[in-house]
Amino acid sequence: MSTESLVPERKPRFAAWLVEPMLANKSTYMKVGLAALLINLFGLVTSLYSMTVYDRVVPNNATTSLVALTIGLLIVLVFDFILRTLRAYFIDIAGANVDREVGQRTFQRLLSIRLDARRGSTGQLTGLMRELESLRDFLASATMTAIIDVPFIFITLLVIGAIGGWLVMVPIVMIPIVVGAGLLTYPALDRLAGSVMNHGLNKSSVLVEAIGGLETVKVINAAPLLQKRWLEATDSHADSSLRQRLVATLGVNVAATAQSLSYAGIIVVGVFLIADRHLTTGGLIACSLLGGRAVQPLGSIAQLLSRLTGARTAYQQVNAFMSQPSEISESDQLKPNKLQGLIEFRNVTFRYPGAKQDALKDINLVIKPGERVGILGRIGSGKSTLARMALGLYQPTDGLVMIDGTDLRQMDLVSVRRHVGAALQESVLLTGSIRENIILGRDGIDDEEMLRVARLTGVHDFVGQIANGYDLKLADRGEGLSGGQRQSIALSRALVGRPSVIVFDEPTSGMDMQSEEILIARLAEELADRTVIVVTHRPSLLKLVNRVLVIQDGRIAVDGPRDDVLRRLTQPQRAA
Ligand code: ATP
Ligand code: MG
Repeated sequence: MSTESLVPERKPRFAAWLVEPMLANKSTYMKVGLAALLINLFGLVTSLYSMTVYDRVVPNNATTSLVALTIGLLIVLVFDFILRTLRAYFIDIAGANVDREVGQRTFQRLLSIRLDARRGSTGQLTGLMRELESLRDFLASATMTAIIDVPFIFITLLVIGAIGGWLVMVPIVMIPIVVGAGLLTYPALDRLAGSVMNHGLNKSSVLVEAIGGLETVKVINAAPLLQKRWLEATDSHADSSLRQRLVATLGVNVAATAQSLSYAGIIVVGVFLIADRHLTTGGLIACSLLGGRAVQPLGSIAQLLSRLTGARTAYQQVNAFMSQPSEISESDQLKPNKLQGLIEFRNVTFRYPGAKQDALKDINLVIKPGERVGILGRIGSGKSTLARMALGLYQPTDGLVMIDGTDLRQMDLVSVRRHVGAALQESVLLTGSIRENIILGRDGIDDEEMLRVARLTGVHDFVGQIANGYDLKLADRGEGLSGGQRQSIALSRALVGRPSVIVFDEPTSGMDMQSEEILIARLAEELADRTVIVVTHRPSLLKLVNRVLVIQDGRIAVDGPRDDVLRRLTQPQRAA
């Protein structure tokens, strides 16, 4: 099971993805702060009410004053209620806004992550995106309220001091105890939050793998293996969550005890102060109420500490993820309006991240506009890797990949790919209609163009007969279509809009001979004067190309006009 952490070693940059959306909601947070201020002031009013009643009303039996005071208190309570509701509402609103913006930014980042910088499995990335939820929970929740209440502890202490003088020392002594307990448990909680999260990600990793490959899992009888992994992941997750809760409980209990101690201490000290006539009974009552209030926000924080550390861990993970290199275009990058189709590899060496060996070694290659190149080679020789590099999916470890004479790194890949049609070895479709899958939201592609490529690739042969065939919804990555059908849709997707560069990786691997033959005949016309790279094991596809490369162990072994190369390959002895 992968235990690789998603956190890279280097320090992440400033968290603009979180700070900016939060700043955008500044005014809402200001309202939250204002509401908190008023709520805390109202809280003082209740204590002062008790003091006045004990000191003035009870000794004099002043019922009229009691009625007046109580009416005043009721009014305050009504406002208090309204403000509390508003505060919760504002926190939720701001939370939802921040969540939306942060979610959008992280998703954009996810889609533009550079494949060579990607860390963690699909499942772990899925889990990471879900961790955003715990951040969200944090931003729109009781935690926020508790944190906002902390500064008002000082106001409460001031008032206690004003009424009870030295009595204020009792809660002041309690505060370091609660804070100390929090600080002591914090490192453990923080560490546990990290491991809870990592175990959670492992769980999600097993889950995604199992669901994604259910058919294969059954066929190869991998269920027991996956079951075992799931059990391990669940056990370790449950184990660390349990410890996390245990440690968190400690902090909470210390806070609760401190609150009671503060109450009792105030009463005890207060009695002496009353005896010395430094304090009235009402003053004591007010101080004991206020003492509770002074310690209480810290108690809530102790209670929320595990959530806090969880949010912090999530924040760190997401921040690390957000600081990884991405393909997001920078303003100084070239955005070509069209491509000539000149592809150049200069001394390109490439090693997949974490791999022991170079997949491509010192490749030098110039493909002129309009040239059609077939790439041959044994399995694992690096053909697909070469195609991926031409598409800018990976950056070379060494050397340069250039398109139209410009280093791909200086070009905006989104704009480049607009002019490149590619069908990779695996035909992955998206959930949606066949039409959507072919057009993919690209501008300026009408039904006529879609039908043209559908006829060309043979999609029309199996969709054309069905009523509304093109609007047929494909569930779940195109399950419900055969492998060959998926492949023809993937090919249509590559050809639609007549891009000037075409990259095909085994475009006919899922097709029968007859379909392949028809397709090749149609493609011969379609691909004339485009720059084409076709990776293939099938000799028949070589009809489409005029130049052939043979890749061997990541190097170009043979390169030449098609017929020459084929002659050499079929007569190896004489060539040698
Ligand atoms: P095939 O004919 O089987 O498709 P190929 O020539 O296309 O083979 P590549 O996919 O280019 O082979 O792989 C070249 C080498 O790079 C292989 O040794 C493979 O193990 C390695 N490789 C491919 N993809 C990755 C990856 N994502 N991460 C790490 N190594 C990879
Ligand atoms: Mg391949």
